[in-house]
Amino acid sequence: MRIGIVGAGIGGLTAAIALTRQGADCVVHEQRPAPDDDGTGIQISPNAVAELRKLGVDLDFAVEVTSRELLRWADGTVLGRTDLSRYGAPYLTMRRGLLTAALRRTDVHYGRRCATVRDDGSGVTIEFTDGSRERYDLVIGADGLRSAVRAVVAPAEPIDSGLVASRAVIRSDAPPGVRVWLGPGRHCVAYPIAPGLLNLVAVTPAGRHPDPFGGWDPVVRGLLGRAGEWDRRALYDLPPAPVWHRGRVVLIGDAAHPILPFIAQGAAQAIEDAVALARSPDLTAFRASRRDRVRRVYELSRAGLRVHHLPDGPGQRDRDRGLAVAPADGHD
Ligand code: FAD
Repeated sequence: MRIGIVGAGIGGLTAAIALTRQGADCVVHEQRPAPDDDGTGIQISPNAVAELRKLGVDLDFAVEVTSRELLRWADGTVLGRTDLSRYGAPYLTMRRGLLTAALRRTDVHYGRRCATVRDDGSGVTIEFTDGSRERYDLVIGADGLRSAVRAVVAPAEPIDSGLVASRAVIRSDAPPGVRVWLGPGRHCVAYPIAPGLLNLVAVTPAGRHPDPFGGWDPVVRGLLGRAGEWDRRALYDLPPAPVWHRGRVVLIGDAAHPILPFIAQGAAQAIEDAVALARSPDLTAFRASRRDRVRRVYELSRAGLRVHHLPDGPGQRDRDRGLAVAPADGHD
């Protein structure tokens, strides 16, 4: 079977590995002119690490984090702590570009932007913006939030959440855990991605810079103050697509179900999709195997939008009491 994959992100590259192992002939088409060298961090939870290990992906460059702490915005009081070492596979953090490099095992054609796909019943043609075409037995849309392939399968416009994620990497010898400061309308995440390197993600309302963390815990202010360059991106929300395939065209990862980054599960779900697709006898079975889990993760993540950002008051105090007695779900 000849399979064309649109998008060389984490989902598309994992699908290429998993399907090649099943004997398929995979070609990945990526709009970027060159491989992704994103130096900022990504957390890969044990569910996805276990799948990558089964595929033989070497993640030796990653950092194993053993705990995640939720902290109060004003003074860093620990509100809740999750032991991340109890899931059978490690919880890993790393530079995103190193992860995609480790996943790049098959042919990737760079500088190829898919304009649309056409299924004529006996095969699927990918039409590229430069006018060229390629024909395949199956096409996988792994082209992310603004998927051109989804426009054919299940058209929908992502909705602006009004929040911006700002990412930076600083030099710091930090404890080997994930720390999340929760505060009114915003939160900040810090975790190591290599010895002496700390990844920071600040999620704030759009247009509220330069100092959206005034009055916060001096520790988090100190970390943020050391960041040089910030990579800023708006966060979008979109419920999982009502259908994930049409004929011989199928969606995986963010193309099928973008997930807000409140529980660090979007890439993990893209990896799970890729593996499930390679295992499934047909596209209907694939979607059936994934639909409920993806919906649950989407809902959990969306709940984070409200719960992470509660203003001080009765709701926040209830949340904090709950965090103290019940450690969070192992996804996060
Ligand atoms: P993408 O990573 O978006 O990859 C899509 C690829 O397709 C890209 O390379 C793109 O250039 C290419 N492409 C797009 N359109 C076309 C086209 N028309 N033709 C050809 N190529 C095309 N998830 C986690 O699990 N852990 C985390 O710690 C985490 N942190 C996050 C932090 C932030 C700030 C954000 C915004 C997200 C985070 N996520 C995290 C979510 C995660 O980044 C995404 O869910 C994941 O990248 C989805 O992978 P994907 O392969 O489906 O799509």
